[in-house]
Amino acid sequence: MPLDLLIRYANLPDGRTNQDIAVKDGRIVEVRPAIEAEAVREIEARNRLVSPPFVDTHFHMDATLSLGIPRLNESGTLLEGIALWGELKPLLIVEAVVERALRYCDLAVAQGLLAIRTHVDVCDDRLTGVEALLDVRERMKPYLDLQLVAFPQDGYYRSPSAAENLKRALDMGVDVVGGIPHFERTMQDGAASVRALCEIAAERGLRVDMHCDETDDPLSRHIETLAYETHRLGLQGRVVGSHLTSMHSMDNHYVSKLLPLIAEAGVHAVANPVINIVIQGRHDTYPKRRGLTRVAEMRSHGVNVAFGQDCVMDPWYSLGNADMLEVAHMGLHVGQLTSREAMRFCFDAVTANPARAMGLEGYGLEPGCHADLVVLQAEDPIEAIRLKATRLFVVRRGQIIAETPARRTALSLPERPGAVDAANYAPRAVQ
Ligand SMILES: [Zn+2]
Repeated sequence: MPLDLLIRYANLPDGRTNQDIAVKDGRIVEVRPAIEAEAVREIEARNRLVSPPFVDTHFHMDATLSLGIPRLNESGTLLEGIALWGELKPLLIVEAVVERALRYCDLAVAQGLLAIRTHVDVCDDRLTGVEALLDVRERMKPYLDLQLVAFPQDGYYRSPSAAENLKRALDMGVDVVGGIPHFERTMQDGAASVRALCEIAAERGLRVDMHCDETDDPLSRHIETLAYETHRLGLQGRVVGSHLTSMHSMDNHYVSKLLPLIAEAGVHAVANPVINIVIQGRHDTYPKRRGLTRVAEMRSHGVNVAFGQDCVMDPWYSLGNADMLEVAHMGLHVGQLTSREAMRFCFDAVTANPARAMGLEGYGLEPGCHADLVVLQAEDPIEAIRLKATRLFVVRRGQIIAETPARRTALSLPERPGAVDAANYAPRAVQ
């Protein structure tokens, strides 16, 4: 029996070159040079980078593509964004949220983004977003993995029905327990919310992903409580602290105690560089803080760090394109992650690291993994980030589900006829 798919002469993210990838029944069966086998479909990668798909572990799909509804965010600030979301929320209907989310998923598939963890606001007694995104999760299952987080946007204690709604959302099938401790009325309430929400997750056998310390206030220390509760409840490896921007501004001595606690608890850290750089530091005059959490320092303590996208064309952010290479590019710059090793890490921060944070099964390029792959118009991870490389082929469970022609511009310069290619070669599909 022939293979379903054979990819030839691939460069892999770990630096191996000239690798052939054999696919059968939706799984990778072999990765090595010069595989001799028949295949229904072949892709000549020609030393282009073949990667497992991009993964976005921090997104808001209930709000995406709502730009301009009911009006635009004229100031571009977080506060006007929150006010706008408050105006939009009562107007939401399930069909419209589904339609926008599906359109976003199409864009994600085109960009090779095949796993997304989205927060869904449960501070709406109708649970419109929950109903809509549960439907989208099922409909998109053949193409991408969607995880939902029950997110009490207006505060678990501060919003009167949030606790009840969060339980209802979990009963309906939402995957992960969310929170927003820095938005509660007091530090004590914030810490209590972390404790209560982690206990709910432990009782139900669920994962936790909290918006945690998304502020420039160096005294916002809910990550400490999150690490403590993770340790106390035996949730190691199952908890994500998202944003962690206060850590940017914290006292260095305190951070030297905090980082080993995060590592000990196996809490994953997710920075959202595109959003952090535009939202943080807004109360500063000059110098203005960047607000990105301490990525390099957490890595050196062995903490798994990923980059998320957070927002695309919604009340908070008017730009974005489901392009995780744009996110990696921003993280590289804002975090000054410019050593060769750190630049390669930035590619992992939008692929393997978020997959680990989400607990995705069968992710990777080893034999036995799902045959979910992206062929990029770049030779290696650093070039992929530099070019925000074209996704030439996107493969899901061994089937090509998206193709984009290689980028190439014909020149009309009389003295210098020819063409400019974003990269030197382009792979070719052979029927
Ligand atoms: Zn968020």
